[in-house]
Amino acid sequence: MATSSSATTSTRKSIDCREFPSEKNCSLKISGTEEEVLTVAVQHAVAGHGHADGPELREMLRSGLREER
Ligand SMILES: [Zn+2]
Repeated sequence: MATSSSATTSTRKSIDCREFPSEKNCSLKISGTEEEVLTVAVQHAVAGHGHADGPELREMLRSGLREER
């Protein structure tokens, strides 16, 4: 449900948890549209790494996005 609301799925972004400093040696990698990745990454950062949700966290995660090809 609630998927493919837009047809522009050509560019996928990914974020690799290994590129962020962490004490957990987390190896999670998330890929999807920018919005999907950010949504899941925020949840993961909060639940998995104890970060506080907020503009700073989102900005940090956004800066870690890579384009997949
Ligand atoms: Zn992680």
